[in-house]
Amino acid sequence: MRVPIVAGNWKMHKLPDEAVALCQALIPRLGEFHNREVVVCPPFTALASVAKALEGTGVALGAQNVFHEPSGAYTGEIAPPMLKALGVKYVILGHSERRQYFGETDELVNKKIKAALEHGLKPIVCVGETLEQREAGITESFVKGQVEAAFSGILADDAKQLVVAYEPIWAIGTGKTATSQQANQVIAVIRKALESLYDGATAAAIRIQYGGSVKADNMAELMQQPEIDGALVGGASLDAESFARIVRYDD
Ligand code: PEP
Repeated sequence: MRVPIVAGNWKMHKLPDEAVALCQALIPRLGEFHNREVVVCPPFTALASVAKALEGTGVALGAQNVFHEPSGAYTGEIAPPMLKALGVKYVILGHSERRQYFGETDELVNKKIKAALEHGLKPIVCVGETLEQREAGITESFVKGQVEAAFSGILADDAKQLVVAYEPIWAIGTGKTATSQQANQVIAVIRKALESLYDGATAAAIRIQYGGSVKADNMAELMQQPEIDGALVGGASLDAESFARIVRYDD
């Protein structure tokens, strides 16, 4: 049984005090949650204060990126042990905004995944097609290629630590959600690709989220699909009430 995972990607929002205030608004709204994992991913500068605010709450801390070297002369980068030392458990890797604005390639994403795993961080690896690719009918082959590149050289036991987030780029921050059937269909293709790379049991153990304009009012329908194991939430995670309603989709 895969435990659903709902993660909030706060992107480049919230000063440390604002991030703590968001946690303080969120925690009571979440109440007790069962049979799901909840993660919030503030910017690097708010990780330390959010770590404190989350103590004892059951909500896990995530980061939005990491570099692939453990230390060294890499001005401006953040190494995996630095995140680990702050209590970070998950790290979003290969988000389409990083691929698009910062030139991250499949190869770089793969290196970052390996480095994260080596230091005990669980990657949330983002994949997804552009609108042009969807319209050209190459969504499934493109996403399959991204998944194969991301998992390249990763052993089955480590692969089970990863979470995949299927995020069609045309649905991120646009208000356009993939239909739950569209999302389920591509996620099923991702699971098949994982089965080919590993085996049925490994593929069945890896959680695959949907991301792209997830809101409180479309989460329940998405979660009814058999292949969807949770959500990576951008905009709606910045509002405590919305994010809590997304987490409690089945109340
Ligand atoms: C995201 O940034 O991963 C995302 C899915 O954003 P939004 O929910 O705002 O579309």
